[in-house]
Amino acid sequence: MTDPAQTVTNWARNITYTAKEFHRPHSLDALRSLVAGSARVRVLGSGHSFNRIADPGPDGVLVSLAGLPAVTEVDTAARTVRVAGGVRYAELARAVHAHGLALPNMASLPHISVAGSVATGTHGSGVANGSLAAPVREVELVLADGSTARIARGEAGFEGAVTSLGALGAVTALTLDLEAAYDMAQTVYTELPLAGLDFPAVSGAAYSVSLFTDWREPGFRQVWVKRRTDRPTAEFEWAAPATEAMHPVPGMPAGNCTQQFGVPGPWHERLPHFRAEFTPSSGDELQSEYLLPRTTALDALHAVDAVRQTVSPVLQTCEVRTIAADPQWLSPAHGRDSVALHFTWVDDLAAVLPVVRRLEEALEPFGPRPHWGKVFAVPAADVRERYPRLGEFRALARELDPDGKFTNPFVADLLDD
Ligand SMILES: Cc1cc2nc3c(=O)[nH]c(=O)nc-3n(C[C@H](O)[C@H](O)[C@H](O)COP(=O)(O)OP(=O)(O)OC[C@H]3O[C@@H](n4cnc5c(N)ncnc54)[C@H](O)[C@@H]3O)c2cc1C
Repeated sequence: MTDPAQTVTNWARNITYTAKEFHRPHSLDALRSLVAGSARVRVLGSGHSFNRIADPGPDGVLVSLAGLPAVTEVDTAARTVRVAGGVRYAELARAVHAHGLALPNMASLPHISVAGSVATGTHGSGVANGSLAAPVREVELVLADGSTARIARGEAGFEGAVTSLGALGAVTALTLDLEAAYDMAQTVYTELPLAGLDFPAVSGAAYSVSLFTDWREPGFRQVWVKRRTDRPTAEFEWAAPATEAMHPVPGMPAGNCTQQFGVPGPWHERLPHFRAEFTPSSGDELQSEYLLPRTTALDALHAVDAVRQTVSPVLQTCEVRTIAADPQWLSPAHGRDSVALHFTWVDDLAAVLPVVRRLEEALEPFGPRPHWGKVFAVPAADVRERYPRLGEFRALARELDPDGKFTNPFVADLLDD
């Protein structure tokens, strides 16, 4: 299906894609012909990125895989699921839960596509939890010439093939490892001081912990603690439990958020902060995020605290999470246990960009890797230096896509040598 006239924007509506055509093929064969017959292609997932990562540019075609059959094939014996390239986490989670199985982690919202999320290194929180790419065991792609390829864990190139920024081909399916379904209980605590913060103890106090602040005052306004009921639990001794349901953005209705107050429930209804049936977050927003070595967490938080008067006027909320080291070459958590400092800004790029630059200066000593799907101003040369396996990714991209059909200006900046 082609609709050249259609205007396509990202979820936040801060990006209008400049592609000359937008396609939504309904079969694998139609996708293969489209890719083979096009000079430049980018796949659009659910459009939750805040920058031009998915934009093929005015000479290219933008392709959504949401029209392909929404396959979620669960293999209960092998404890795996094969999920099609256009499926979102909400559908995937419901399908695997129906078989008594679970994913190890989810992002703050279930509305995002699986393929688009793992392509950008999207993550949740938890000191021992890898990014959402961690459970992926096999990737199926349509390559530039329209042929198909599969790359499995353990095979050459796999560490480039999952968090690939969409630069290798169209990901038509992923196979993920699952585990037995588990219940969780989520409790929100309020007012955690920065002074004297024992970051390893606080961030490791439960399966998944997120700290939130508006940086209007030092310290954290909220701590979201997600405990698995099948694991030993400890008291959270650093802050008091909230007395009313909370939203991470002050003033937003908590009804959009997942169940709190320690009420046990299925993993996929507790791991995300936002419920599948509501618009997540505020909608009118921009986001930035930086992943740093976890050992620098406290110093980095103090560095942000030092510029909080610059940051807070354009900030809706800041979330601090942890991610376990990841072998994917382009993962922002590659090779280092990480802390992620996330910023939900107001929806005003002109006001936000100077603050992003100031924040990046403050974080520079910690070698921050920007989230691929969010707003950042770190020069491409600096980003390149922070990925020790970038050369291998370049070689893989040249091998699978010799003419750079799946490249766009965003990716070209990175692959430039
Ligand atoms: C409200 C909100 C909350 C968020 N919360 C989190 C969070 O908790 N944690 C976090 O880390 N991030 C978070 N993000 C960021 C988000 O997860 C990423 O931007 C992610 O890439 C979104 O997936 P998508 O399908 O929307 O990707 P898109 O923006 O559609 O695409 C991202 C990249 O993936 C590529 N791609 C997509 N699908 C395919 C495919 N099938 N084949 C090949 N390439 C493909 C695109 O070409 C592009 O390069 C959030 C974003 C929003 C708007």
